[in-house]
Amino acid sequence: AKSDHRHSLQLFSAEMNRRAQERASLERALQQALAERSLTLHYQPQVLSSSPDTLHGVEALARWHHPTWGMVPPSQFIAIAEEAGLIHTLTLWLLDEACRQLAAWRAAGHPVPCVAINLSGRSFHQPGLAQEIADALKQHGLRPGDVLLEITESVMMDARPVTLANIDTLHRQGFKLSLDDFGTGYSSLSYLHRLPISELKLDMAFVQDLTTSATARALTVSVLSIAHSLGMVVVAEGVETVGQQQWLQAHGCPVMQGYLFGKPLPPEDIEAWLGARSA
Ligand code: C2E
Ligand code: CA
Ligand code: CA
Ligand code: CA
Repeated sequence: AKSDHRHSLQLFSAEMNRRAQERASLERALQQALAERSLTLHYQPQVLSSSPDTLHGVEALARWHHPTWGMVPPSQFIAIAEEAGLIHTLTLWLLDEACRQLAAWRAAGHPVPCVAINLSGRSFHQPGLAQEIADALKQHGLRPGDVLLEITESVMMDARPVTLANIDTLHRQGFKLSLDDFGTGYSSLSYLHRLPISELKLDMAFVQDLTTSATARALTVSVLSIAHSLGMVVVAEGVETVGQQQWLQAHGCPVMQGYLFGKPLPPEDIEAWLGARSA
């Protein structure tokens, strides 16, 4: 039995070693991709419930196509970037790229009202974040109202003074914050009065259960009511069916996002999306 144990320990450490190596090579490749600026952004339409052919905005979602590994999911490379200390570089790149794209769309006459950007909690540990965001916008001739900054509860999980200072500066400069994945955390409600939030993104877990679960419906009704009385916009995420759309519309959810309206698309496909809908 003792040697069995030793054997399984050896297998275990071989597996750990393999994973550590895989991790290290992913990390090196990500570092290189950032240096070469070879990541891209896709954009997912967010539409008005009252007029689903009209954009409320688009959400920028990072994509990494590795020459040999293919598409690496953002859930994976964002985590690596955070652990490897590369997230600030990634955030600055995606801000610059999203602003450049929004300015280009507008210059070409495409009516894109704003772009939503996902900010990792770690980015807020950088003392200069608020100023760097303001600079990125200015460089492309945009105003704070042209972007929506999506954050999750994780931003507040270790709320250091530097995080709160960044949030305060952004708020005072007129930036709008959107609370992503709303309803999935431990204390989503408590952040509504602790942070200057102007938009809630109802997590797709609720949306996808709307037609089958009375609990999901009751919770969604409450979220819509709280948001309404606090003057916040609600964006329902992950809307895939007409049944979900109709229910959300009937219950006063103002904005929807999901495969029913459009997947995350490369920029030129957003132009085609708009072209196909302008009468
Ligand atoms: P998220 O911010 O909650 O983004 C929504 C995710 O849901 C996206 O996955 C999107 O493709 C997917 N989605 C949208 N509509 C539907 C639908 O109707 N059905 C289903 N099943 N899925 C839908 P994606 O692009 O793989 O991104 C995953 C997560 O990675 C994001 O979740 C976000 O947390 C993170 N992420 C992506 N891009 C960035 C980035 O640029 N910066 C940071 N910090 N995080 C990012
Ligand atoms: Ca998001
Ligand atoms: Ca989300
Ligand atoms: Ca998420």
